[in-house]
Amino acid sequence: MKAKEYIEKVRSGEISAVKTTEGILNEIKKINKDYGFFNTISENFALDLAEKVDKNPKGKLAGLSISLKDDLCVKDVETMCSSNILRGYKPPFNATLVNSLIREGAILIGKTNQDAFGFGSFNVNTDTGIPKNPLDKSRVTGGSSGGAAGFTALTKFPHVAIGESTGGSIVAPCSFCGVSGLSPTYGLVSRYGLVDYANSLDKLGPVAKHVEDLELVLDVIKGHDVKDSTSLRDDLRKDRTVKKIGLIKETLDVDPKIKEIILKKLDEMNVKYEKVSLPKTSKYALSSYYIIAMAEASTNLAKYCGMRYGQEGKVNMPFNEYFSEIRTKNFNKEVKRRIILGTFTRMAGYRDAFYLKAMKVRTLVIEEYKEAFRKYDLLVSPTMPIVAPKLSEVNKLKPKDHYMMDVMTVGPNLAGIPHMSVNAGFYNNLPVGIMFTGDHLNENKLFKIGENVI
Ligand code: GLN
Repeated sequence: MKAKEYIEKVRSGEISAVKTTEGILNEIKKINKDYGFFNTISENFALDLAEKVDKNPKGKLAGLSISLKDDLCVKDVETMCSSNILRGYKPPFNATLVNSLIREGAILIGKTNQDAFGFGSFNVNTDTGIPKNPLDKSRVTGGSSGGAAGFTALTKFPHVAIGESTGGSIVAPCSFCGVSGLSPTYGLVSRYGLVDYANSLDKLGPVAKHVEDLELVLDVIKGHDVKDSTSLRDDLRKDRTVKKIGLIKETLDVDPKIKEIILKKLDEMNVKYEKVSLPKTSKYALSSYYIIAMAEASTNLAKYCGMRYGQEGKVNMPFNEYFSEIRTKNFNKEVKRRIILGTFTRMAGYRDAFYLKAMKVRTLVIEEYKEAFRKYDLLVSPTMPIVAPKLSEVNKLKPKDHYMMDVMTVGPNLAGIPHMSVNAGFYNNLPVGIMFTGDHLNENKLFKIGENVI
């Protein structure tokens, strides 16, 4: 059942929000041991919210269960970004998005697994157990919002997950798990109460089985927020027309089976498309992204030193020694790698060669997209270069191989433009995502085309 249909039934009293919530909580308890999608199940909180909805079934999302990626602050609910350093941290406040969802009657059921702080493409860099792909347990979910996409694919209940993307973490796991996900225009959804990965890139967005459900939830979470200085005042453009699409030529250099599925889907869709080249984005976006993202991440992580958040120890030594002891013990390998690389690219002597150059490249990427959108309503590409790999295959990869996975998704993230992954078909029973990218605030064109795909 699509979310809209379900919500109407809750609003008319035909379906009880409490009953559905009990059902979905039982389902999570049954599958979570096997799949590891959730870090925290907020049972009592969810049932309280559901009781309130049953008493007064109003709101645009009345009774709809929503899960939150573990980097979103919910008052008194453990929020650890799947990192040991934040184990036990209970925020004293709600993220703006959390308040917006509650106001419209959503039922917040728990916090989903992710790569620690969002650092990863397979959800294997997590301190809370690696989640399993819902279609094949020997495979990964994709990351970093792996729990969000995995659970959305497997649940039998109407459900929307909230994910976060810095360089592709919403669309990547959607592609591997066969669901739809939208990474909106940067600044459209407030980041207040999101634990930062890289401030100039982070975005919150919905993951769902149906494109209509993405639209429904985006409508509730978008909007200006005085608490987030990067929050936009503009609303979405109304125009939904999609006359011409540009197929990004360089992104077809993938597994030939994936290419075939993407081309077949485009032909079936009855939409005019032609190949377009984005040479700068294809060549430089990835390296520019990883320099900027790690530079920002390394400064954001400075605050986790065992004094104010999460893990603490005995301060019976000089402060610097104490900080390094806590950080050495509680940050995983990938987090440490990013702190070191990010600090390096910002250091005097290297800043000009790396960080500042990456910022210049980012501007070139933005300009290249702008140019393409003069001609095309949307751009299209595969979401990922491969289908979900086995965990045993991922374990053999080098860090750089992980980073290469994001080759299609970092471009729109650097430019802050909206992009959406929808399932285009299956290859050896594994889902293949197709990604549409629009100009700033053109989410409506994405919704229009997405409804066309499934
Ligand atoms: N895979 C990318 C990274 O590791 C993107 C992660 C994200 O979007 N949070 O940086």
